[in-house]
Order: sequence, then C-alpha cells, then structure tokens
Amino acid sequence: MFRPTGPRPAGRQVRWPAAALVAAGLLGALPPHAAAVPLVTTQYARVSGDPGAAGIASRVAALVDEAAPRIAPLVGANDLRPIPVVVYVDSRQFRSATGLPQRSTVVGLAAFPTAVIHVDGTGRLASVEKVVPHEVAHIMIWRAMGPAFGELPLWMHEGVAEYAAGERASQVDPVTLEAVGRGESLPIADLDLALRGSDRPQALAYAEAASIVNFLVSAKGPGVIAELLAAAREQGDFPAAVKQVTGWSMQDLEAAWRVSVARRWRWPLLLQSPVLPFGLMLVIFIAGYLRYRRRRRRREQQQDQDW
Ligand SMILES: [Zn+2]
Repeated sequence: MFRPTGPRPAGRQVRWPAAALVAAGLLGALPPHAAAVPLVTTQYARVSGDPGAAGIASRVAALVDEAAPRIAPLVGANDLRPIPVVVYVDSRQFRSATGLPQRSTVVGLAAFPTAVIHVDGTGRLASVEKVVPHEVAHIMIWRAMGPAFGELPLWMHEGVAEYAAGERASQVDPVTLEAVGRGESLPIADLDLALRGSDRPQALAYAEAASIVNFLVSAKGPGVIAELLAAAREQGDFPAAVKQVTGWSMQDLEAAWRVSVARRWRWPLLLQSPVLPFGLMLVIFIAGYLRYRRRRRRREQQQDQDW
C-alpha cells in the first residue's frame, strides 16, 4: 500500500507494500467498485472506473504503457499481461472502495493478491504521473517474486519502486536526503519499522531506502535489482541474497552505503556551512595583503635601482 505521509512537501509519495500485504485479504474480498466500467485497454493496461473518468483513464493507461515494459526487466518480471487499474474521480469513493479511512492521505495503492492498482485520479496531493509508475513497480515486484514477495524487506520494496519509477533519491526529497548526508540516517535494520510509522522518521526511512537502492545500482550495475530479487526468491532469505549477489553482508552494505553518502555530501554540506564564507574572506584578504606587500617591495627595489 502506498501513501503519501500526511501533509508533505512537494507531493512526494510514501507508500507501504507491507500494509498492502496486511490488508490483502480485505482488499481481495472487496466488492468491485460499484460504478466501475471498462474504460481503456492498451497493451499493458486495463483501466476501469467511473464513466466520467475516461480522460484520466487514458492518461493512466499511457503511464502504465511507458512504465510496465521498462520496469519488468529491471526487476526480472516476465509477466507482461495488462495490469488492472481502477481510477476514481472522487477521493471519498477511492478511500471507501479500498477500505482506507476517510482521513487517509493515500492516493495510490497496489492491492494484493489481486494485483490491482487503485488510483485517486483527482490529483489530490499528487498527480497520477507521480503515483502510477511507482505502483506499476510494486506490481512488477509482485510478479517477479511470486509467493516470495514477503521475503523482501519493506525498505527494499519502497527503494526499488522509487528507483524504478525514475525518481532518483537526490530528487525525491533534498531536505531529507541532506539529513541522511549529515549522518542522521537510521540503521538499515530499523527502516521497516520507521516506514510503518508516521511523521519524520518515515520520510527519513523512505529517502534512505531510495538512496540505498540507488547506491546498490551505482556500485553493482542496474542488473543488481533483478539478481537480488531472484536470489531472495530462491534462497528465501534477503541477507543471504545480498551476500550471494554483492558479496556483502548487511553490515558491509550499510558501511559501504554510508561511506558513499558521506563522500557525496561532504562538499555540498561544507558549502552550506557558515564557517566557509568567513574562511574564504580571510584567504582572499591574506592573498590581497601578500600581493600588496610584494608589489610595494618590488616598487621600492625599482626605486633603489633608478636612484
Ligand atoms: Zn510504494
């Protein structure tokens, strides 16, 4: 399940696949949305919804058509059958059809085991352009993992979905990522709990999950995601899969990731530091003074010679 956390800056999506797993039975048992009719069918999408949702349904289908064939090989999914999507033009209807509380801020949701995407098409909190690729990634992870879906830690689900959706960690939430750069990050072992929570630790955990997956890809190549998912599926154990694919223990991964983040943020953070402008001014002043003294001495020597 995938929800933006509370009132958020920049309409960023935070979503919870584990919550979707917990709610899976409930969602699977839901009666179909009363007014849902087939609206648009394309190569990779089968969109239904309220008859008044035809316009938004076409946009959603186009987004699925772009995302599905791109994300499937990234996660190692072979199943490219059209993804069922239900779009809603009424936020209340979206929430009641998906069993979400009315005060919920969730605007997109991938329900399992039905593997149906539900999208609030009103644009409330986030545009469908922001929501759909991320949800498609969750569906493709589901198709790649099958019954081993639950073997992946929550942070891996979210990090991969965010990476696959194309929102690089550095663009997701600069403020939170900067906190990670300052060393405020949580231990990897605490991420899943934080992702299920609320407020700031959740946003931090979310940015961190995306950052770790970006790091894995930059260190081991884009094939690493599909390899990790396949290994987790076969071994039934995520740390063992990480060891097999990357050669790293979870501690090694965490240490290597922290080094990369520190390296990446050392300069930006230094440039923001209030000490730096003063230091620069001092250097410029000293350089200017030395130059002035050198010139004066040279002039004096010249005068000596002229004399
Ligand atoms: Zn998500």
